[in-house]
Amino acid sequence: MSDCYQIYYNNDTQQASFKVLESLASKHSDFIISPEFNEFSCDVYALLDNPDSNIIAVDWDNTFTAYPEFYNALILKYLSLGFKPIICTLRSSEKDDVHEICEAMETGKVDICPTNGEPKQHYIKKNKGLSVNLWIDDFFPGIAQCESELIVKNGIEMLHF
Ligand SMILES: [Mg+2]
Repeated sequence: MSDCYQIYYNNDTQQASFKVLESLASKHSDFIISPEFNEFSCDVYALLDNPDSNIIAVDWDNTFTAYPEFYNALILKYLSLGFKPIICTLRSSEKDDVHEICEAMETGKVDICPTNGEPKQHYIKKNKGLSVNLWIDDFFPGIAQCESELIVKNGIEMLHF
């Protein structure tokens, strides 16, 4: 266990979406961005998907909820720069689940996308016809299968599975 909040990113560091995350994280002395995959020390994963998309998909439980102040600020920053941040959660689309999320957000300009437990990348493509630029999530298997192109191209190799 580390005292720092460790953000995993192992992709193109020149991406505008990453630079926003990097810049805000650098203002927190206890935040580290690391390209080293270690499932025991990484708190959250930032995975680059489609660089041509302007959608930033932020997970809710144990991602946003772990640092609401940071993620509210991050979402506002993305909005101000023309990105389209959304909250994409494995939660159900039941009213109470979604209501709780809306209540905690500082802005009403963010779509809440519950996938009812379905893998997020596939769900968003199938139901909304959208692809995502950057996924920010504490549980990457909830986005796509471990052997999928997205996971592999972001440097994650599940050697012992
Ligand atoms: Mg989560």
